[in-house]
Formats: sequence, C-alpha cells, structure tokens
Amino acid sequence: MLLKRFRRGRLRKLGIPPEWRRYLERNFVHYGLLPPRDLEELTGHIRVFLAEKVFFGRGGIEVTDEIRVTVAAYASLLLLRRETDYFPRMRTVVVYPTEYLAPYREVDRFGIEVEGYQVRSGEAWEKGPVVLSWEAVLRDSWGARRCRHVVIHEFAHQLDYENGYSDGVPALGKGISVEEWRRVMETELRALRRVEAMGRATVLDRYGAQGPGEFFAVATEAFFMCPAKLSQRRPELYRLLSRYFNQDPASDWHLEGDDSP
Ligand SMILES: [Zn+2]
Repeated sequence: MLLKRFRRGRLRKLGIPPEWRRYLERNFVHYGLLPPRDLEELTGHIRVFLAEKVFFGRGGIEVTDEIRVTVAAYASLLLLRRETDYFPRMRTVVVYPTEYLAPYREVDRFGIEVEGYQVRSGEAWEKGPVVLSWEAVLRDSWGARRCRHVVIHEFAHQLDYENGYSDGVPALGKGISVEEWRRVMETELRALRRVEAMGRATVLDRYGAQGPGEFFAVATEAFFMCPAKLSQRRPELYRLLSRYFNQDPASDWHLEGDDSP
C-alpha cells in the first residue's frame, strides 16, 4: 500500500510529453475548460492510469498513445479533487475501432427477459474490462451527442462497482448519507421516467430511465458534459453530484454560453 502510494506519487510528478498534450488539445474537450490546478492534477492521474491499466485492441485496431491518453483523460476527470484508488476493480480497457455487436441477455425493468445481439459503443463489467468503440469516443469528444460521453458513462459504472454491485450508489465518503443519495436520485429518476413517457428531450439521456445504475452513469455524463445546463434544469441533482465529485464545473470551468462543452 505504501509502495503503491509512493509509486503513484512519483508517476504523478513526471509530467506528460508534448505529444500527449497535443492529443489532449485535439480530443479532450475539457482541456481548455479546467482550471490550471485541475489540469495539472489530471495529467498526473493520466500517468498513473496508463501505468496501471492495460489496453487491448480488437477488430483490427492498433492501440496508439492517442487512444490511451484520450481514454485516460476522460476517466481521470471523474477522479479529480478526491481520494482515489484509480478504479481498483478494473485493469483492462478493450478498444474496438467502431461500434460492435455484443450478445446480451437481460431482464428489463418490466421483468421481461430479452436476449439477442446489440450494437454497442461501450460497456463496463463488474471486476472486468471497460469496452469502448474508438469511433464513439471521438464522436462524443467532438460533441456530436451533446451531453453524452461514452467514456464518462462507462467509468461512472466503475465508480458504482467500487463498493459492490451496480445499484447507482457509489462509495459516498463523508458528508453524504446513502439515504440522502437515494432520496435525490430516486426523485430524479422518477422525473426522467415521466419525461421519457412523454417523449420529451431532456439534458439527461433517456437511457438513464432504465434503473438506478444507468441513471447514475447518465447523470455523470451530463454533469461533466453539460454542467451549466444540468445545474439550471436539475439543480438538486447537480448539487448532489457536485458534492460527491467535489467539483463545481458550472462555476469553476471557463464555460462560454450556457451549455458548453
Ligand atoms: Zn450503462
């Protein structure tokens, strides 16, 4: 444990090579938004992340430094300003060039078992890998899906897994009780389900209506991709996430307009 802490501390101080900075400028939409201190912490986290996690390419893609640095940057955004053990339950990131077909079987929220193949842009497994489509990572980074980002989504699931299974309640630390967390999240999930039933657009992706686990992942995407909009439209949800992540992007980031990035 002490050795690990020492090793991580040393890695964080290394700084990053100029090419990595160019990848961040190109693909990491938050590069120009984060306060300098956060950006410095983030580059340290990227170093540790890349030293500890293993990347595999599937479907003929060669995993380049650009891919590794871009994925690590979005994952590290979730770790800023907090005690972190760097997603201890996952070690592997699998990258496909495009969206991919995955077999699946699940029970939906109406209790019906559904089985088949599904086109996916990403997935996260408990104690297993995070799987990502590089095409989807770039698409989301360039803002094609507005308040969504596949890397942020899948790593939010990893935070959720840290204290057990996917129930939408990550390890909360001091200051937030499980009761308070559940109360706010359940109210917000119900609100999203009402909006979903009416077919209306919202700052939260309607996919989050599936259940508490997906809701937390979708809310985390909106928190980091559209903080100003989320704080205006769902202030209670924003405030809770702001306390959990110990970040206040709607105030602290150099946002232009009311809904960038
Ligand atoms: Zn999900």
